[in-house]
Amino acid sequence: MKITGSETTILKVPEDEPLANMPEAEGRFRPVVIVRLRTDNGLEGIGLTFYGGAMTGSLCKAVDELAELTVGADPMRVEAVIESLRATGDSAGPGGIFSLALSAIDTALWDIKGKALEQPLWKLLGGHRDRVPTYASGALRRGLTDDQAAQAARTLVEKGFTQMKTQMALPGNPTPADEIRRVRTVREAVGPDITLMCDINQRWRPEQAIDIGSRVEDVGLFWLEDVTTADDYQGLARVTAALNTPIAGGEYLYGIRPFRQMIEARSVDIVMVDIVRAGGVTPWMKIAAMAEAFNLPIVSHVMPEILVHLVAACPNGLTVEYMPWMLALYEETPAIENGDLVLPDKPGLGLKFDEKAITAFTA
Ligand SMILES: [Mg+2]
Repeated sequence: MKITGSETTILKVPEDEPLANMPEAEGRFRPVVIVRLRTDNGLEGIGLTFYGGAMTGSLCKAVDELAELTVGADPMRVEAVIESLRATGDSAGPGGIFSLALSAIDTALWDIKGKALEQPLWKLLGGHRDRVPTYASGALRRGLTDDQAAQAARTLVEKGFTQMKTQMALPGNPTPADEIRRVRTVREAVGPDITLMCDINQRWRPEQAIDIGSRVEDVGLFWLEDVTTADDYQGLARVTAALNTPIAGGEYLYGIRPFRQMIEARSVDIVMVDIVRAGGVTPWMKIAAMAEAFNLPIVSHVMPEILVHLVAACPNGLTVEYMPWMLALYEETPAIENGDLVLPDKPGLGLKFDEKAITAFTA
């Protein structure tokens, strides 16, 4: 089997918030690049990438250029294909657009591999479990009022979510008391038995994280996420050592090597990996194994329809972020039953683009 060609499309995907219908801003779009990698025996692997922002045209071009370099290669030899792309393009990396583009190709290669072997990706990667916990994300945002956040949280519970994530580091100039009131409001709305996480998105200094974090220990957060600048490994380690609440982080790191520094510095209790910044399925799984060796759980960032395969494959996979950014791109995505995502039986990613949606979103 050989790769014969590819096709990329730039999409503008609406920034809806379908879980609790609480959008922070109406009418905004998220630019996304999708790729279809084709083979001489009629298989098609799909991949996608984003975070290009105003440089999404350049990101799309980077995917095109890398995909062109794969023509003639055997898609079953993912490491060989990736090594050849690194040999040619890695001086434009290792982070940034190179990694973002590489991730789309790597994901498409794994999709092809699964389709060729007629096995779902989660089984190819290890197949540890056939269902995994998931948490609602993106609905309980910092831009909401306390009342809106409480209402949205109750909506998520009514929909059957047993895990959900909210945010602190509120907009404006919140006092610590404002921050604490918000997270308590959400906890009171959902009750003591819901697993509740809280994301700071790098907006605090380490001492703020220790101050506010220590004053919300009794809220029983499952984790506090990205409490400060993502590559301040020493600052993160101070927060992690100071708080009983587990600290999660890693979604902003590119490739596999920064995770070594983060983990060796004891910066986090829970390792979060973004597949797009990591560079695809291949590096994501290597980071998961690195975390396992340090007795740390691994969690995913966005795209539950793809990441469910990876978290389910790993013995240290903890939960899947149910962030619905891309769900509208597909005909069908994995179902949620009793708070768990159910792994698909279809080969590869088990996803098929909804061509009507793709046409409607094409930029
Ligand atoms: Mg986050």
